[in-house]
Amino acid sequence: MATLLKGAEVAAAIDQETSALVAQLKEKGTTPTLAVLRVGERSDDLAYERGAAKRCETVGIAFRRELLPADATQEELMAAVERLNSDPSVHGILVFSPLPRHLDLKAVRDALLPEKDVDGITEGSLAGVFTGSGKGFCPCTAEAAVRVLDHYGVDCTGKSAVVVGRSLVVGKPAAMLLLARNATVTVCHTRTPDIAAVTKKADVVVAAAGCMNMISADHVSPGQVIVDVGINWDDAAGRLRGDVDFDAAEPIVSAITPVPGGVGSVTTAILAAHTALAAKNAK
Ligand code: NAP
Repeated sequence: MATLLKGAEVAAAIDQETSALVAQLKEKGTTPTLAVLRVGERSDDLAYERGAAKRCETVGIAFRRELLPADATQEELMAAVERLNSDPSVHGILVFSPLPRHLDLKAVRDALLPEKDVDGITEGSLAGVFTGSGKGFCPCTAEAAVRVLDHYGVDCTGKSAVVVGRSLVVGKPAAMLLLARNATVTVCHTRTPDIAAVTKKADVVVAAAGCMNMISADHVSPGQVIVDVGINWDDAAGRLRGDVDFDAAEPIVSAITPVPGGVGSVTTAILAAHTALAAKNAK
């Protein structure tokens, strides 16, 4: 039976550090503040927003909502970014994406102040992830995936790690974080032939494809650590499922994150931690 890598435990440890930093900042007169910028009412965004608000409350971070209707213009969106950028009481900004089709996320990315970019969407933040300079913030989900490994003492040095997915928000930054932990990293995507042959040989697999149950018993082998980033709604079962077929993989591997209750629970803890750090840096 595999060890269950539960996100709540990781999140609690991160929250403890964040709460301590927030308390120090409040003593000096600064209340770290996260602002979310949401356009429209996508149910995914609303769910994440509720989770982020709750996490901020837990650690003492103030939470603000900047809301625009789904038919907002690009000008209105850019004005909202500008308002948050120039408000010294706001330390972190999270922009929900995807935006409605008529809006341009790249313009938002270019306008967002890097020092407030707590979800790592600007090129400055991503450059920091790739160079290891420590500047900017890593995309929260990618960091959450790797922090799960750190928390449970999985030393990646000299191990082979396979990331399935190459998006800028999860796959690519997760690959860089694993490389920084001295893993030998392979990244798979839709053009990779025979993904099972690649994942089977890995010591660590990070699944971030957004493809329900794509990692089956054929993709895994004994001794592996599996981090499942995927969040997919299974209509038939009426529940969330990951990219890993948990019931098939769990009896084979050595450790695995559940969905829900794995990486997803850590992501908002990282978001709050980044916001507290942004507030500290702003002093
Ligand atoms: P994305 O932008 O759609 O990227 C998916 C990546 O996976 C792409 O690189 C794609 O390859 C690859 N891929 C898709 N299907 C594949 C397949 N069958 N075989 C191999 N590669 C495949 O998704 P994302 O934003 O990175 O998110 C990935 C997953 O993480 C989703 O399930 C999402 O819901 C979840 N997520 C979780 C959190 C959290 O807090 N836990 C946060 C964000 C996202 P190509 O590049 O070749 O198209």
